[in-house]
Amino acid sequence: MSESAVGADGVVEPHPAGDPYAWLPATIVSSVAQTSRARSLTLAVPGLRPARAGQHVDLRLTADDGYTAVRSYSLSDVRASGASGAPAAGGAGPVPQIEVTVERLDDGEVSPYLVDAAEPGDPIEVRGPIGGWFVWPPTEFEPDSAVHAVLPEPDGAAPPTSAPVQLIGGGSGVAPLMAMVRARGRDAPPMRLLASVRDPGSRWFVTELDEAARASSALVASKPPSVAGEEPAPLVVDWVHSRTAPEGHDRRAGRLTRDELEQLVLPASEHPLVYVCGANSFVAVVAGWLVELGHAPTRVRTERFGGV
Ligand SMILES: Cc1cc2nc3c(=O)[nH]c(=O)nc-3n(C[C@H](O)[C@H](O)[C@H](O)COP(=O)(O)OP(=O)(O)OC[C@H]3O[C@@H](n4cnc5c(N)ncnc54)[C@H](O)[C@@H]3O)c2cc1C
Repeated sequence: MSESAVGADGVVEPHPAGDPYAWLPATIVSSVAQTSRARSLTLAVPGLRPARAGQHVDLRLTADDGYTAVRSYSLSDVRASGASGAPAAGGAGPVPQIEVTVERLDDGEVSPYLVDAAEPGDPIEVRGPIGGWFVWPPTEFEPDSAVHAVLPEPDGAAPPTSAPVQLIGGGSGVAPLMAMVRARGRDAPPMRLLASVRDPGSRWFVTELDEAARASSALVASKPPSVAGEEPAPLVVDWVHSRTAPEGHDRRAGRLTRDELEQLVLPASEHPLVYVCGANSFVAVVAGWLVELGHAPTRVRTERFGGV
């Protein structure tokens, strides 16, 4: 593991050029509740490389006695990770900012601290951004990658960069998918999000997602689909609730089934690029069903958060 350098005056220097995985000193700049169990933290990270939607970072906390704990968190917003962050003190240029969204696990070591105790102004260390496969938009050169040498792309499919996008998140797994929703521009391919949560109070980003879906359907309705490349990209958001459904919801509470998955995701015949994220068991079951439903393995990208 590489470390950031501590000078003789005790000041931590930014990571050395050329070491993308050095620890970077960062500051929490805001903390916003998503639900009673989850918070979005915005971190200002001087020297961070621009991040891509779908990537994650490692966060390191250090106690007064020197004990450290490291955990990985997906980025739920990468839009200010490039040049658009707030100006740095002393006019040194914009400071990159990223957002992570953390769910409190009651018996956990790190997540209760991040959700209940961490405050704006607190220091934290960041390593990353990390990941090159579970990212959207995908990179242009992927068709030549090792994965595609073994598993060819499906016949008649649009290249990954222009394929429609299906996002599927279980619980906190919606975090990197939110970064993808937020990263889409007007020329993005159609995107559909299926989010599985326990109950209505566990929905993350619900107001923003509802608003984005409403705005996209209003734009689609108001614009004739005649000007190629000008149509606003549609966004459709579906929620399923495993324990308690909202009042008046058509679907009763219960775990997602294979038949529902088939109805709620873009069909395999459209060759969507599918991103699945959540706890190990959720990702394993959903990815297996997708392949059974005819989705090409090269088009199903997964990120596992751990847990059962
Ligand atoms: C690539 C990656 C990205 C991640 N992104 C996010 C994110 O965006 N938001 C987020 O909240 N978490 C995310 N996680 C999970 C996160 O890294 C921690 O595992 C989680 O916050 C628990 O840490 P803890 O110290 O509180 O619990 P620990 O003290 O590590 O563990 C406490 C208990 O919880 C169990 N457990 C650990 N992880 C999970 C889990 N994910 N689900 C259910 N039970 C678990 C352990 O088995 C243990 O029994 C991500 C994990 C990975 C690998």
